Amino acid sequence: MGEPEPVRDEAAQAQAIEEARRIFAGPINFLLSAPSLKFLPEPITEEIAFAGRSNVGKSSLINALTSRNGLARTSNTPGRTQELNFFDVGPTESGPPRFRLVDMPGYGYARAPKDMVRAWKHLVNDYLRGRAVLRRTHVLIDSRHGLKDVDHTLFDMLDEAAVSYRVVLTKADKVKASELAEVRERTAAAIRKRPAAHPEIIATSSEKGMGLPELRAAVIDALT
Ligand code: GDP
Repeated sequence: MGEPEPVRDEAAQAQAIEEARRIFAGPINFLLSAPSLKFLPEPITEEIAFAGRSNVGKSSLINALTSRNGLARTSNTPGRTQELNFFDVGPTESGPPRFRLVDMPGYGYARAPKDMVRAWKHLVNDYLRGRAVLRRTHVLIDSRHGLKDVDHTLFDMLDEAAVSYRVVLTKADKVKASELAEVRERTAAAIRKRPAAHPEIIATSSEKGMGLPELRAAVIDALT
């Protein structure tokens, strides 16, 4: 079975999960969409990003994490939106939000024209390299498909920019437990030597709620 879970004080983990649940149950508001760097918001608070191939289940996961159905648009035209979407998490009335969620544009759409692939790389690379407030990127991988070449391209970009990242398996409800264990193991082995990769992989299902409390806690844990 996959990676061994690290020994963690159960009470501390339960407390972390409860604190994360509380934060994600509080105010979360769409801030802006940035099609290029000059539209980025002022870096006044920490940022946590989500990235993945088109159709990996990113919008569903962001909506499930925040228990808000329409927050991240579930788009039927994969690969079309080349924007970074920012969401403020936490109170905004007195000072900056606690942190921001950043929904990165999907990639790897089979029919994407070359120009669009280039634009995606540009935007994502510029963001990754210049963003001191970016604490971690979550790279979503479909449990049914595992890692693809394009995912490695993103890993390379993250490693080169020295941005911490963590793999999150999506749609875990669509595979058998044995298949999930297998994809987890294969993925863990593939990222083991990558310098900026977090060794622990979280398996999730937006549909069934699996892994969501743990992922919320992991997001909060990435903040300083
Ligand atoms: P995005 O392009 O990465 O934002 O992907 P979406 O969130 O739009 O999801 C793509 C498709 O996968 C949609 O048909 C979703 O209903 C489906 N999907 C997303 N998450 C899950 C999940 O956890 N379980 C199942 N069974 N389907 C999912």
